[in-house]
Order: sequence, then C-alpha cells, then structure tokens
Amino acid sequence: MSNPERIGITTSIPVEAIFASGAIPVDLNNIFITSPERRGWVENAEIAGFPPTCCGWIKGIYSAAKSSDISSVVTVMAGDCSNTHALAEIWQHEGLKTIPFAFPYDRSRAALEGEVERLCARLGTDLEAAREAKKQLDPLRELAMEVDRLSWEENRVTGFESHLHQVSASDFCSDPKLYAETLSAFIAEAKGREPFRESVRLGFIGVPTIYDDFYEHLESMGARVVFNETQRQFSLPYVGEDLIDAYLKFTYPYDVFARIADIKREIERRRIDGIIHYVQSFCFRQMEDMLFRKLLGVPVVTIEGDRPMPLDARTKTRLEAFVEMLEVEAL
Ligand code: SF4
Repeated sequence: MSNPERIGITTSIPVEAIFASGAIPVDLNNIFITSPERRGWVENAEIAGFPPTCCGWIKGIYSAAKSSDISSVVTVMAGDCSNTHALAEIWQHEGLKTIPFAFPYDRSRAALEGEVERLCARLGTDLEAAREAKKQLDPLRELAMEVDRLSWEENRVTGFESHLHQVSASDFCSDPKLYAETLSAFIAEAKGREPFRESVRLGFIGVPTIYDDFYEHLESMGARVVFNETQRQFSLPYVGEDLIDAYLKFTYPYDVFARIADIKREIERRRIDGIIHYVQSFCFRQMEDMLFRKLLGVPVVTIEGDRPMPLDARTKTRLEAFVEMLEVEAL
C-alpha cells in the first residue's frame, strides 16, 4: 500500500477535510518553527528574493514547503494573512499545487459551508465524510483541552507545554495516533506534578511567537503563561459541535471583536494579571494592538519578534519590567 498523500497547510483550516480524503495534513508553520534549520530557512527565502520587510513566518513556511514531501498546499486566502496571496503565486510558479480556502469575514454559515464543501470536493471527499472525521478527532481535541485545563486550573503545566500541545492540534503532528499517545502520556505525567506557585499569571495573545526561549524566560522570572489565546483556538476546543458550527466559533479568522470577547472571558476565568501581546514584524495584525490596549481591561505589554532567535536584551528588559510591575500591583 502506498503512503498517504501529504498536504501542507498555511494555517489552521478544517483539517477534517484532509483526513476525510485519506491524506495527511502538514502544518508548515510547525515544520518551520521546530526545525533546527529555521534560521537558515528564513535566510534562504531572502536569498530566493523575499524582501527583508516580509514577515519571518511567511519566509519560514516558504522554505518549509520546499523541504517537505508535500504534494500540494491548502492556502488560506481570507481570514489569515494577505501575504499568503503572493506566497501562493510563488508556489504555483515553482510548480507546487495550491488549493485555495477562505474563511468568510462576515462569519456567514452558508458561505463557510460552501467553502468547506469546495475544499472537500478538491480533495476528493465530501462534507459528510469531513463531519465524520470531526467526530473521530474530537477525543484528540479533548486531550489538548485537558492540557490547557491542567495549565490554568491545576497549575501543573508550563506555558510552553500548553503552547506546544495546543498548537500541534492544527495538524495533530501529521499522526493522530502518535499525538493521542503523546498527550495521554504527558497528561498522566503532569497530573503527578506538584503545582507551580508563580507570583504572576499571564495571558499570551497574538500569533505564536518566533522567539526560541520566550516561555522559559518568563518562568525564570516567577511568572507563567496560563492562557495561550491563538494556540487554544488552533486546537478548536469545540468538541461535540457540528463541523461548521465549530469553525464558526473559531475566533482567529474573523473580526478582532470576537477574539477580544474570548480573551476577556478567559482573563476572568483564569485570574490573569496581565497580557503579553506578541506581534510579528511587518504583520498587519500589529494594528490590532490599539484595540487590545483599549478594550482588555488589564495591563498589556506588546513585544515584537522578527526571526527565530533567543529573546534579545531589550525585549527581556521590557518583559522583566512588566512582570515586576504586576508583582508590585499584586501586593
Ligand atoms: S504573522 Fe502576520 S504577516 Fe506573518 S504570516 Fe502571520 S498573519 Fe501573516
């Protein structure tokens, strides 16, 4: 029997359609950021012609696709990143098949259902099979939710562990069985840990950070991230819901106000002292910072990253000052 086809994705999509088709999804972001070659991959994209003023994630996933054994890539043309348009055209020119997908900005159920149906048809499957795949994947999503709960409710999981296991649910590490085994073993181990007793509880919002040591550095200061906003959304914590309903609740691809409502709910529930808003250099999402600062109701610090590297001294100082301020406020 031949190996299943591997299909790249540029961000979280209704991955159930890929599984229903018998293919395997490969989240190029995860391939990029976990590769020991990640720094070189950004440089390789620049050597190929990508401008220095283009987002590091775009350059990274361009190179990740070149280094992967994918046959095609689902490119999200609305609801993620406008840079994906040009990236898809470059891939097409270079001979990589692209399959467009769009989240409707107005969150229209009919429009989303139409998009998922079109995606299924392009992949040689149908909506009912994708709905069935969602039922099969829900127990895995429950595992990611349990990791998240252990992080904020029982304080037994680090910010990085919560980040990693939730963000990996975008493609279930291209191996759902292995993902389930890994998370089940992790949860059993974490449940036996002594709870962390950090002095400051933080929320992390924005796209996943490109820095190597972000979470570890915060924990070395006595703070811990107990909410990873986007990663939690990528894990689609809407189990038991219909496929289309779940992707309508997914806050990331639509307007920022649904994200703000979700973040505020979680600030309250998780007793969060302050928010770190991570922004990527040259990303249009940086503009959302002004709304987060106005509307979240807790202190917000904004940090920016460009390419994969350890935290620089200036960013470390800003994080340290923020944590110290929150510690003083808590006294
Ligand atoms: S960080 Fe911003 S610019 Fe970069 S890929 Fe994501 S949405 Fe696009």
